[in-house]
Amino acid sequence: MTAPHHRPGGGFRNPWANAAAPAFGGFLKWVLVQRIIRPRPADPPHSAFHRLEPKFAVPRAASDRLLVTWVGHSSFLLQVGGLNVLTDPMWSNRASPVRFAGPRRWVAPGIDFATLPPIDLVLLSHNHYDHLDDRTVRRLAAREPRATWLVPLGLGRFVRARGARDVWEHDWWQETPIGPALVACTPAQHFSSRGLRDRGATLWCGWAVRTNAHRVFFTGDTGYHPEFGRIAERYGPFDVALLPIGGYEPRWFMRPVHMNPEEAVRAFRDLGGGAHGTVMIPMHWGTFKLTDEAMDEPPIRARVAWREAGLAPEQFWMLAHGETRAL
Ligand code: ZN
Ligand code: ZN
Repeated sequence: MTAPHHRPGGGFRNPWANAAAPAFGGFLKWVLVQRIIRPRPADPPHSAFHRLEPKFAVPRAASDRLLVTWVGHSSFLLQVGGLNVLTDPMWSNRASPVRFAGPRRWVAPGIDFATLPPIDLVLLSHNHYDHLDDRTVRRLAAREPRATWLVPLGLGRFVRARGARDVWEHDWWQETPIGPALVACTPAQHFSSRGLRDRGATLWCGWAVRTNAHRVFFTGDTGYHPEFGRIAERYGPFDVALLPIGGYEPRWFMRPVHMNPEEAVRAFRDLGGGAHGTVMIPMHWGTFKLTDEAMDEPPIRARVAWREAGLAPEQFWMLAHGETRAL
């Protein structure tokens, strides 16, 4: 029997009720009609976002340490189990198929590409331009020929064509040992597309990384879905959960594919995060202007939702671009 997230005849879909990804007609309504009728809330000046000097371990951290550095958006350098891991590496100026147009970066990458430590593992969540960047993949593959790339089903060809050598495609719940770590592909409620006719052709996912000392969950892009509890059952309890909080307005269009800050906190609670002392690190905000909410609204609302849920303030790490924190 095929899994319910595999589309009959090829490609992928969300298996949950009420989780249909937005259609192209909806996209046109959003961009052409709504934005003209209803002006978007004002953004803060770019200078409102700070960039800190990263303090990651060079070349690697000890195997019993966990260091997290936010590069920006969904790009992190995770130093876990003695490995250097990059999530959704994105170093380009625009999240776009072309260099002259498309959402431009607000804050320089938190780590200068040239100063990256050696990379052992790259985790990709899906093929949207703000997560999978042609130029970054080529640069990284050229610089790190020995890195292992774990990608969702269907994305192997893209990264191999750009020079990556050790590439492994994964379906949801599939696991692979990487050195001292067990890495597992986890479900997400999202969609994929880079062009007009490739919707759902490749899979989307999150990743859980488990070592003797630490457990980390990288959510990828997702709407709120019912599987967070099961992910924590299998691969938690997590020390750190990287959860997306931005990209949610207008709600009628974005709800199936991007959680808002309140839903991200709810997902954190589904993960059992409060009881287990998990640290939540918000991501997918403050780097590219993709949707209608003001650039500084997600962290403000996330803080409020966190407080209203009665969660411990020390478990909430709102990182600045470039900031490194150690567990
Ligand atoms: Zn996406
Ligand atoms: Zn995204």
